[in-house]
Amino acid sequence: SSTTDTPNLTLTTSDTLFTRAKEHIPGGVNSPVRAFRAVGGHPVFMQSAKGAWLTDVDGNQYLDFINSWGPMILGHAPDLVLDAVQQAVQGSLSFGAPTRREVEMAELIKQMVPSIEKVRLVNSGTEATMSAIRVARGYTGRNKIIKFEGCYHGHGDSFLIAAGSGALTLGAPDSPGVTQGVAQDTLTVPYNNLAAVEEIIAANPNQVAALILEPVVGNMGLVAPQEGYLQGLRDLCTKHGIVLIFDEVMTGFRLARGGAQELYGIKPDLTTLGKIIGGGMPVGAYGGRRDIMDQVAPAGKVYQAGTLSGNPIATAAGIAQLTYLNEHPELYDELNRITTRIADGTRNIAAELGLNYTVNQVGSMFSLFFTDQPVTDLESAKASDTEAFGRYFRAMLHRGIYLAPAQYEALFVSTAITDELVETYLTACRESLLEAH
Ligand code: PLP
Repeated sequence: SSTTDTPNLTLTTSDTLFTRAKEHIPGGVNSPVRAFRAVGGHPVFMQSAKGAWLTDVDGNQYLDFINSWGPMILGHAPDLVLDAVQQAVQGSLSFGAPTRREVEMAELIKQMVPSIEKVRLVNSGTEATMSAIRVARGYTGRNKIIKFEGCYHGHGDSFLIAAGSGALTLGAPDSPGVTQGVAQDTLTVPYNNLAAVEEIIAANPNQVAALILEPVVGNMGLVAPQEGYLQGLRDLCTKHGIVLIFDEVMTGFRLARGGAQELYGIKPDLTTLGKIIGGGMPVGAYGGRRDIMDQVAPAGKVYQAGTLSGNPIATAAGIAQLTYLNEHPELYDELNRITTRIADGTRNIAAELGLNYTVNQVGSMFSLFFTDQPVTDLESAKASDTEAFGRYFRAMLHRGIYLAPAQYEALFVSTAITDELVETYLTACRESLLEAH
């Protein structure tokens, strides 16, 4: 079926582009989730965006709850970021040599995330996590890593084992092309289950280099860590000499100025960062304890490099956005207030319709699961009725609300969402739930 089953949405230009795209690009998209496979219909091709609103190539407008999968905390195209980029462009697009902005960016990241003593910039979250486990392996001299079922850490081979997000939605978490040799070094355990972690460490004595997780999971839908869970992991890693890596690609600078580690008061050994520190430009970073990061070349022997790393345009955008966040800590309270209105409102509307659906929220991230069971890990997330989610997604899209096109994704709220826009969302939510359930 096509997304054109509601009369008020004309998507002819999108549909034409998608037909062309499928001729030239695998599946017609450059990242799988964009194809709308999990929800039915065709993807919407975007033209531009400002603040809370997206405009597609047919001129339709949507209230955006994806925000480029997180980075647009201040909404789309904030003037302060655009101005910084425009100024940076005048000085050339890339040097492949050190620049002042890289130093300023590192200082800013360290100031906002105190567990980071040294930091290396890369170009995506995937590079950040791949590099972080290499350093952890180099540092410990061990091979194995522990990851959690349903956590997504980008598309590095080591992480495409029981992965979340698009890999989960496609029903192929173990990708062809990942060798058995690589897979055997990734140990997977359920999220929010400390005993399972203890057991797997005991079964692999002195072999685990790193334990990596999303401290708040965005990639099986939004799943929060249970009371004491993160501290329990911290203690286990300290006891067994395992490098604790918080993947804060989604949560960094979003859940609090210092990310989930600030919110929960836990200090990881390494942190991976991504899209948010580029304000929409392609960037990532990994950093943490000085003694571990000093293993990275050329300070140490663990190799990691990048032609475009520390790119002047990306760092200009990132510095502009991070500086604003750093100087306006009050915006986190406001983001949380608005998102709580959205999450509570969604839960209440469902309940009024006799649907005890689960709504999870932490800060400005939330998910509506089409199940009445609590969602605390991958298995419980899978109880969600994804067919109903698909109907809900399409009903919302037709009402001008752009949600993540898959159940197993979090939604992101920006500071551009006002109380008035919350009402717009809730009205559409009520109508769509009526239509979908
Ligand atoms: N880690 C987490 C927690 C993510 O959510 C993502 C992407 O969404 C990544 C890593 C990979 O980042 P990228 O898509 O920039 O490679």
